[in-house]
Formats: sequence, C-alpha cells, structure tokens
Amino acid sequence: MSRNEELFARAAQSIPGGVNSPVRAFRSVGGTPRFISKARDAHIWDADGKQYIDYLGSWGPAIVGHAHPEVVKAVQDAAVNGLSFGAPTEGETLLAEAIIKRLPSIEQVRLVSSGTEATMSAIRLARGATGRAKIIKFEGCYHGHADSLLVKAGSGLLTFGNPTSAGVPPEFVKHTIVLDYNDLDAVSEAFKQHGDDIACIIVEPIAGNMNLIKPAPGFLEGLRELCTQYGALLIFDEVMTGFRAGPQGVQGLSGVTPDLTTLAKVIGGGMPVGAFGGRADVMKHIAPLGAVYQAGTLSGNPVSVAAGLATLDILGRPGFYENLAAQTKKLVDGLSERAKAAGVTFCADSVGGMFGLYFRESIPTSFAEVSDSNIDAFKVFFHAMLNQGVHLAPSAFEAGFVSAKHDDAIIAQTLDA
Ligand code: PLP
Repeated sequence: MSRNEELFARAAQSIPGGVNSPVRAFRSVGGTPRFISKARDAHIWDADGKQYIDYLGSWGPAIVGHAHPEVVKAVQDAAVNGLSFGAPTEGETLLAEAIIKRLPSIEQVRLVSSGTEATMSAIRLARGATGRAKIIKFEGCYHGHADSLLVKAGSGLLTFGNPTSAGVPPEFVKHTIVLDYNDLDAVSEAFKQHGDDIACIIVEPIAGNMNLIKPAPGFLEGLRELCTQYGALLIFDEVMTGFRAGPQGVQGLSGVTPDLTTLAKVIGGGMPVGAFGGRADVMKHIAPLGAVYQAGTLSGNPVSVAAGLATLDILGRPGFYENLAAQTKKLVDGLSERAKAAGVTFCADSVGGMFGLYFRESIPTSFAEVSDSNIDAFKVFFHAMLNQGVHLAPSAFEAGFVSAKHDDAIIAQTLDA
C-alpha cells in the first residue's frame, strides 16, 4: 500500500466523510487522492514523493509561490516573538493600513481568520447598518460556509458538496433571494418587489467558483445603481479575486465601487487571514462604536498577519502583475495544446493570476450553462495532465491559479517532459 493510499484509508476513519476534508480537491474528479506533503515555488510533492507542477495554488493563496523565502522569514520572526497575544498588535494595524492603501473603496477594515468569517461578518454588518433583512445572492457564487445560511436547499453547488441550507431551518434562509448571475433584469425586479427590505447584494464580481465567469457589460454598474437607488449595500466578495485578478481586484478592473469588500486567501499568504472593510460610515456600526458584535480570538494574530504583510509587499513590486498575467496566458496556451493531444478541446478565459477552462464550445455566462458534459470532459483532461505531473485546480467549477513562480522555463519543461 502506498503512503497516499494508507492516508486515504486512515482519513476515512478519522475525518467525517473521509475524503471530504483533506482531499476535497479530488472529490469531483475521482481517482486516488494525493496527500500533499511539501510545496515549494510552483511545485508540490505528494506523500509518495511524486512531484507535480501546481495550478491549484492552495485554492488561491499561493500567489508568490509556495514557501517564498521572504514570507517564511516573516512568519519565523513573528513566531519567535510569540504566537498569539489577544491584544492589539503592530502587525494587525500594518496589514489593515496596507489593505486600505491598496483598495480605495476601503476606508476601514477589520481582520478575521477566513473568507467565510469575512462574508458572514459583512452580511451581518449590512443587516445591522441598514436595519433590513433580505439579501440578494447569485446562483453558483460561493461565499464559504456563509452560503449555508443563504442558499435554498437543492440550489447552488450541491453536486460538489458545497454548502447548502439542507438541514438548516427554513426561517434561516427565507430572507435570501437567489438570482442568476448576469441577470440584471431579475435584480431590478427583486428591488421593485422588496426594495425597502433588501439589506445588500453579495456578489463575486468575477465568479471564480463557477469556473471563471466574467460579469456581462453593465452588470456590476447596474448592481451599483440599484443599490444606491434603493439604499442597499453592495458587497463585493473578493476573497478569491482580491489582489489576484489584478492589483486592486475586480473593483480596480471594473471601476465599480462597492460599499463593502471581503478578502482572504492572498492577504494571508497561506496563513489564516480574512478581512472585511469599506465605507467608514458603514463600518462604524461594528461594536464597540455600533451594535454589530464581531470578534475572534485569533483575529489579527501576529504570525498570520506577518505572512500577509510579506505577501502584499511582494505583490507591490514593479511588474508583478504583468508577469503574472503573462504566465497565465502562457499556461493556458500550453494546456490547450496538451488538451488537443489528449483528445479533448476547450476554450479558456483568464484574468490576472486566474484562469478557467471550459470543455464546451463557448465561454459560459451563467452557472446554468456549465453542464455535466463539461465536468466529464474535464475529468478526462485532469487525469491526463496529472499523469504528466501537472496538477490543475481539480474541479470544472473552480478557477485555476497561477503564481509568480510559474516562469516560462518551468511551464515549458514540465509540459514537454
Ligand atoms: N468567498 C469566495 C469568493 C471564495 O472563493 C471562498 C473560498 O473559496 C470563500 C468566500 C470562503 O473562504 P474560506 O474558505 O477562507 O472560508
């Protein structure tokens, strides 16, 4: 029995659902799961020592490459000083300032420990600040476990085991209006019907959890206008896209300004950091200034924020994003060639350090268009690539991620092996 197989069997005993948590990545594609034991630059190694080039990027955070020496040093230095103080820290303030400096829509920001915590907090804040209950969200947009309180049972990404409200009392989800991504008319209609009671819209401004679906022209602008008109708050969930789609996330690319933004993944450089922030007159509703309670034992802990600060510092260097976009394009072109050789074809789209592969003729514009045939074709391709040592983001419903360490030589060398 290989070490991977042994770990797989043991996980089935010790972790509910067995494959659900540590090898979640493999659920949608099947095959023997790989347990990852080491990661460096653009490479990962499984428990049996096999090396892969990594296009999962830890589901997004690993944007400067795994174990970047500057991030490792920052974490080591912070750890030597103590792990957790439960008191304000210098690093916490510096990371908050670094985020505010980079994202003009954010006047004040609160640090938390994950993307889920950030989205949960932003939604609670929107309700507290507006005194309204209803939330608009979009089918196929993923907001972490916050979805379990938002999504109606049976909708959303159920196929892939993502959170739904199944098992949650109906009164918890009755305030959510779930609409199709890019369907601005439906949003307008919802405001006409419920305008006085809609607290917020939460949206992935580029949907990375439907593979990669970009907003139709005018969609984000339309959401902005409707929110302003009806006094609702616009929340951009940039947990995935923040500092990855571009230096200012999708808000920078689109020029649309949200009231609140949620962040995680990249801002923790691989450590648990999330954040939510935005207009100061909205943020003031958080306790102790306002009534919305929010706190976390490990929020802003010095080791995590040190990793985030070191990462943001690297992202701020000249040419970082130009290089990232160039690597992404190079990869997509290379994969396209490989796909043809493996007997499958796809079209592709990308933004910054994210890419989507669609095993169909055209780029989908909504969740409903991503079909089972797309998933089946993706599985074939995923395994063909894995056998060549290329580990892709293992779901036809999730964007893939490139890091600055995927330089031309590594891509060419691996794909030509
Ligand atoms: N929001 C978006 C857009 C995400 O992609 C994710 C995670 O993939 C989350 C929220 C949840 O973040 P976390 O897994 O850190 O709780």
